[in-house]
Amino acid sequence: MHCNPRYEILFEPVRIGPVTAPNRFYQTPHATGMGHQKPQSGAALRGIKAEGGWGVVSTEYCSIHPSSDDSPFGFLSLWDEDDVRDLARTADAIHAHGSLAAVELWHGGAHTNNRLTREPLLAPSAQPAKFVQPGGARAMDRQDISDFRRWQREAAIRARRAGFDIVYCYAGHDYLPFQFLSRRTNRRTDEYGGALQNRVRLLREMIEETKEAVGETCAVAVRLAVDELHGPHGITSEGEGREIIEMLAELPDLWDINVAGSLGNDSKSSRFSAEGFQEKYVGFVKGLTTKPVVSVGRFTSPDTMVGQIRRGIQDFIGAARPSIADPFLPKKIFEGREDDIRECIGCNICRSANNESVPLRCTQNPTIGEEWRRGWHPEQVDNKGSEARVLVVGGGPAGLECALTLGRRGYGVMLAEAGNALGGRVSREATLPGLASWARVRDHRLHMLGKQPSVEIYPGSRLDAEDVLSLGVHHVVLATGSFWRRDGVGASVEMPVGIKASPSILTPDDIFAGVPVTGPVLVYDDEHYFMGGALAEKLRVAGHAVTIATPLPVVSSWTQMTDEQFFVQKRLMESGIGLLLSQSLMSAANGVAEFACTYTGRVTRRDFGTLVLVTGRIAEQALFDALSAASARKRENNPSITRIGDCLAPSSIADAVHSGHKYARHIDLPAGAAIPLRERPVFPTGTKPWNAVQPVADPAARSAKSAASLSAPGSS
Ligand code: ADP
Ligand code: SF4
Repeated sequence: MHCNPRYEILFEPVRIGPVTAPNRFYQTPHATGMGHQKPQSGAALRGIKAEGGWGVVSTEYCSIHPSSDDSPFGFLSLWDEDDVRDLARTADAIHAHGSLAAVELWHGGAHTNNRLTREPLLAPSAQPAKFVQPGGARAMDRQDISDFRRWQREAAIRARRAGFDIVYCYAGHDYLPFQFLSRRTNRRTDEYGGALQNRVRLLREMIEETKEAVGETCAVAVRLAVDELHGPHGITSEGEGREIIEMLAELPDLWDINVAGSLGNDSKSSRFSAEGFQEKYVGFVKGLTTKPVVSVGRFTSPDTMVGQIRRGIQDFIGAARPSIADPFLPKKIFEGREDDIRECIGCNICRSANNESVPLRCTQNPTIGEEWRRGWHPEQVDNKGSEARVLVVGGGPAGLECALTLGRRGYGVMLAEAGNALGGRVSREATLPGLASWARVRDHRLHMLGKQPSVEIYPGSRLDAEDVLSLGVHHVVLATGSFWRRDGVGASVEMPVGIKASPSILTPDDIFAGVPVTGPVLVYDDEHYFMGGALAEKLRVAGHAVTIATPLPVVSSWTQMTDEQFFVQKRLMESGIGLLLSQSLMSAANGVAEFACTYTGRVTRRDFGTLVLVTGRIAEQALFDALSAASARKRENNPSITRIGDCLAPSSIADAVHSGHKYARHIDLPAGAAIPLRERPVFPTGTKPWNAVQPVADPAARSAKSAASLSAPGSS
């Protein structure tokens, strides 16, 4: 198969200073939750991206010095030779597929926490820490600035020694060089503060000195936030953002441009932004420089990508999330298989991985983060291990992914779905405001299932235990989903509360089923992810007076992990939805709900026309129970029965997809093979007993060794 001629422009090589990218697909830096603690996982993940055709593959943020420590989050480091050795594996994994390896050198300044290293925080001017924690950052003096410049140079040299082709100067996301740029955080009165010319000085020095250190063989990229979305008080793309580009236009080898202020602005979810939403802020940059420009925008459509190049917005197609959802996106376009792209849905579950300090996960791509620890490849599966036939019951995300992956392995599969349409919860949830692109979870799998000759799909087929057993399959997989509770038990209320069942007390299932709603509406959210807020919004849009109540002090609390909470609460407040915070539901009857304050216990009453309970979910396991009982009676030739997804334990769509995928990968593996590898420190042979004092390495000898390695011949 061949690339559609329309898309050939995407596969042109692009020169970046002394190096050349083989095509225009540029995986911009993104967090993985792995960092320096999981070097093998990181190397495997980046290698897969290169294999999938990304011409440039970047690392996540990589600290240049212990005064920039983001523990316990997954950041990389280039502090010493051990880091060089570990990161060389990542560069090698990327080079193995002919791609360029980029490293995002990083210093967080006041926007870090130094929990591990206990170094004092540094900032252009004394200020409270950006993370809420006791204390703050001290103002950098001249010596600190000179030290910082040296750390950047030394880290760049280590990066080159590790094999990287592109080295970053990182002035985005409110990190240290950006703190120097912005008037909000730079209140210095010396030559590094005041006029923009002075605030730009440090970034200019960084670029010049990084080029001096490694520029002969490595490209030097600048990642810059051209608008911090703080209005006139900060850097804006019409104001100082533009002036900075004008001042430094030809200095770096590549401009990596975004909007920042916070990560949430840059990687906005689809609920709050459309594909290419950064264009209005970043579009001007190419007009001011001859150097290549890259930016991001959750690009998944090749036509949009071509438009970005042809309209002169950028030279590369920058992508973080689309490369997570489909590491093989470039290759699929190259091979004329663009319809097979597993498009990012913009849910930001990937952001939650770093925010929770665990390896990357993705709703669309169950293999991300599993490359090393489970050996999962996004495009390759083992051939089937037997002739066993499998029945999958339920066509939600878990059942669809399970049937698809079994089919790819060559197993004979029957997929039965009670409803007339497939998709399960995804089809319902995609009707909520802003979540339409979530339907891609269903649509991609249906498209790919259409290519699996060994999978038969039966919609409109509600099966009972007798039906299942009469089919004579070897394995039965139950993916029958879950339903919402009606008893008020949620994340913060363990015991059923006094709820008197009535047609005016509904669950999300009832709303999706079209049960009529009368106002005023009270949505009670003790689940804390998207459902409560999104339903409140939907009912408000339908014209009802809506209040959302929750036992926690903010709405949709877990969306902090997907970098959405601020935007959720803003939207609810702006659309006139009342907030009743820190209130636990105690009872609901006859149109009156009684709440107790989470802190004081003080009771409040609210009248409602409809109360919607968004609390816990219960696994739909009636079929499992019936099958277990029938199998116990029959005793022979029974199929294996396994529950997956929400039917096993209600959770996120990402977990349902992962669960279905895992079953299909493990169906023929021995029990125990399911335990993923872990990267953990081991005691090297000859380590002394724990209570013996270890000799401390001579600090003088150590720094001499480090200095020697920096100037070692052949290190270029
Ligand atoms: P998950 O997220 O685990 O995939 P969903 O709730 O999205 O779960 O999907 C479960 C699907 O299972 C629904 O589409 C539902 O109609 C279907 N289902 C439930 N019970 C049966 C059954 N007995 N026979 C066939 N399909 C069923
Ligand atoms: Fe896209 Fe969601 Fe996957 Fe992130 S988790 S890459 S937003 S589909």
